[in-house]
Amino acid sequence: MSSRLHGFPGGLILDGHKAISSGRPSMRAAIPERLFIPLQQHIGEPAEALVRPGQRVLKGEVIGAASGYFSVPVHASTSGTVVEVADHPVPHPSGLKCACVVIEADGEDTWFERSTIADPTRLDPAALRNLIRKAGVVGMGGAGFPTFVKLNPGPGRHVKTVILNGAECEPYITCDDRLMRERPGAIVAGAEIIRRATQAERCVIGVEENKPEAYQALRDAASDGVEVVQVPVRYPIGGEKELIQVLTGREVPSDGLPAEVGVLVQNVATAAAVYEAVEKGQPLISRYVTVTGSGVSEPRNLEARIGTPLRDLLEQCGMREGEVTSLIMGGPMMGFSLRDADVPLVKTSNCVLAETGPDSNAGLPVLPCIRCGSCAQVCPVKLLPQQLYWYARAKDFDKVQDHHLFDCIECGCCAYVCPSNIPLVQYYRFAKTEIWGQEREREKADLARRRHEARLARLEREKREREARHRAKRAVLSGKDQKMEGDAAKQAAIRAALERAKAKRSSSGDRQEGAARQRTD
Ligand code: SF4
Ligand code: SF4
Repeated sequence: MSSRLHGFPGGLILDGHKAISSGRPSMRAAIPERLFIPLQQHIGEPAEALVRPGQRVLKGEVIGAASGYFSVPVHASTSGTVVEVADHPVPHPSGLKCACVVIEADGEDTWFERSTIADPTRLDPAALRNLIRKAGVVGMGGAGFPTFVKLNPGPGRHVKTVILNGAECEPYITCDDRLMRERPGAIVAGAEIIRRATQAERCVIGVEENKPEAYQALRDAASDGVEVVQVPVRYPIGGEKELIQVLTGREVPSDGLPAEVGVLVQNVATAAAVYEAVEKGQPLISRYVTVTGSGVSEPRNLEARIGTPLRDLLEQCGMREGEVTSLIMGGPMMGFSLRDADVPLVKTSNCVLAETGPDSNAGLPVLPCIRCGSCAQVCPVKLLPQQLYWYARAKDFDKVQDHHLFDCIECGCCAYVCPSNIPLVQYYRFAKTEIWGQEREREKADLARRRHEARLARLEREKREREARHRAKRAVLSGKDQKMEGDAAKQAAIRAALERAKAKRSSSGDRQEGAARQRTD
């Protein structure tokens, strides 16, 4: 692959607000009194709890087991005692609750026994994927896709190029920037492991031009097989498909996956977690997170344990209690509002944005669409956002899919430029949720229909079997009748023969008596 850069459609130059938090070195967050560790922090099946209240656990110990192929284990992020396994609110746009293992920390932070491999370079791809899975590593850039699954593109697909995403294009978020500056060696080593696990020929790390320190740190750490490339500052260049297009010139097809163009993209933080898993036998139990915005007096990056309540993190960054008017998980473009700070940090949490003053998203009057076309000009996926809006609003879910709703990456560029302040992305999320809901209902109905048909078939089969049994019984009974009739006939014949013999004997006696009488006479 050449390092010649290519463009991508649309996009925006945004005010980054990154210097607020990127200037300070990251800090290790304090161990909270209680950790709320969700059993589902990844796409796929939730982990199954392996612990119960009262049980003592050590840092790094498995507390939730993977429950299917699309599942990874969950580990304790400090030592302590399990006090509860119950539903608690987790970071989700709907305020969703999910099963969490609640651990009361003992403050000792005692590690569970970790096993390390003497020479991980000798491991084959399957063994590497297994170690990465055991460590509970998922994509830390947003979606939380189990990493071991992504490293296995499936039969017939070959990954030629691994791209590490260090673009971090969304405003306010700087956790990857700090990680790249502070742990470039772990990222490069992780990149090499990912390359070995996929048998890829090339590996390139893309870093936005507004992170010169991170770029230099990676360049200094990079080995021969890892290329570090600066990419232009343009939102959303950190989108998977956009970064692939910029670095390779290849366009991932609509509804397609990067593997279809021979590319695998991982976030830089995921690469560092892969390194920790393979080289140190260390599970994913902490991450860098940006705590920023006008709602905190000391915006910065923290290395925090998974399960730490966000309130603890905000307080460690000088939360302006009583003044915070909006709390966002993620950045202002793609993040989502939180109802309160009493939700835990999860593996995919990259930023907590606390703002004071009037909520910038609230209060703006929503006006009718004037069909200005600005939204289409900035869409990086070349969609027609206003058409999607009309169809989503009309709940015409066939049409909205015909217009490739599921290619929308929810980057928010369209809503950002809309002069009518239409919350376009909310309409797209609504339409996606409705379609998923309908699909689930359809699947349920299909399942119910299949069950009903199976029941009818079973009843019919049982009826046929019952009839066959009755027929067989009747046949046996009629055989018995015939036998009985035969026996009776035989008995009658015997009786008749006996009668005849008796009669014969009697007549012969008479004759003998007459003869004797004649002789006597
Ligand atoms: S930018 Fe807004 S007003 Fe203009 S076409 Fe798109 S949805 Fe309509
Ligand atoms: S949110 Fe979707 S429709 Fe709007 S610009 Fe981004 S990708 Fe295009």
